[in-house]
Amino acid sequence: MFFFSGNIVDPGSTTYGINRAGYTLHSAIHKARPDIKCIVHLHTPAVAAVSAMKCGLLPLSQDALFCGKISYHDYRGILIEDDVKKLLVEDLGPINKVMILRNHGFVACGETIEEAWKYAFNVINACEVQVRAAPVGIDQLYLPSNEQQKRVIKDFILKERKNSLFVFS
Ligand SMILES: [Zn+2]
Repeated sequence: MFFFSGNIVDPGSTTYGINRAGYTLHSAIHKARPDIKCIVHLHTPAVAAVSAMKCGLLPLSQDALFCGKISYHDYRGILIEDDVKKLLVEDLGPINKVMILRNHGFVACGETIEEAWKYAFNVINACEVQVRAAPVGIDQLYLPSNEQQKRVIKDFILKERKNSLFVFS
């Protein structure tokens, strides 16, 4: 257990310290966004690959649309500097739940543990799809129309507000 300062109050049964970079990332978001109760941070190869693409995560698949509006944070080395916290929070913004960390990975946030993992699942699937589809050339990819994208996102948000689990198919 530890506070926002990063000082360990009670180490419990472990002899390990805290991961300073992970702590910087998670504490900055928790402090700035009290609506966020859980943050998942991962760098799977497919997400790291998409994070390095100039086009970002494209709305190629339903999973991509289910990520909602996505924030981006440019790579600034290992996240141990205090001034990075401000930039992380600014880049995530006041509403978005998913942020791609360029040349690194992503964070998926949730008001519950389930919601954070649901976003994480969607990001990972969406990036897997993009990495598999990208070799044909980004300009050869078929994207849903703006109207369809907006409709799916609107339905998605309505489902979220009803606090239901994901049952889209
Ligand atoms: Zn990381």
